[in-house]
Amino acid sequence: MSSLEQMYQQVIMDHAREAHGRGLVDLDLVQVGESHQVNTTCGDEIRLRVGLDHDTVASVTWEGQGCSISQASVSVLHELVEGQDLTDAEATMEAFRALMQAKGEAPDDDQEEILGDATAFVGVGKYPARIKCAMLGWMAFKDAIIQARKDQS
Ligand code: ZN
Repeated sequence: MSSLEQMYQQVIMDHAREAHGRGLVDLDLVQVGESHQVNTTCGDEIRLRVGLDHDTVASVTWEGQGCSISQASVSVLHELVEGQDLTDAEATMEAFRALMQAKGEAPDDDQEEILGDATAFVGVGKYPARIKCAMLGWMAFKDAIIQARKDQS
C-alpha cells in the first residue's frame, strides 16, 4: 500500500470513529427535509435531515449504522456541505459522484479542492459493491433537499 493510500485509509477510519453531524437535530427552520436510505447488500442504513435557510444548507444531521465506509462518507458529507449554498452543494455532490465513477483514478486539482476529505474515498471507486456504501449518505442528502424544497409551499 502506498503512503497516499495509507493516508486516505486513515482519513476514512478517523471519520468512522468520530462521526461528524451524527444525531438528528430538531430544526426551527421553514424548510426541513428528511430521507431514509438503506443499502441492503451491505446492511447500511442512514436517516438524514436537512434544514435550508433560503439558499443555504443550514443544517445536515443524520443517524445511521453500517460499515465504516458508509458512516465515514456521511460524516465527510456533513463537513463539506453544511453551510454551503445550494449551488455549491450541488457541485460537491456532482464531484463526489464523479469520484465514485472514476474507477480509482485520482481527481484533478479543481475536483480535489471541492472534495477535501472526500478525496480519501477515491479507492472505493474500484469496488462497485462498496460504491453503494459510500453513496448512501449522499443519496439521502439529495433526497432530503428535494423534500425540504417541497416543504416550502
Ligand atoms: Zn456498507
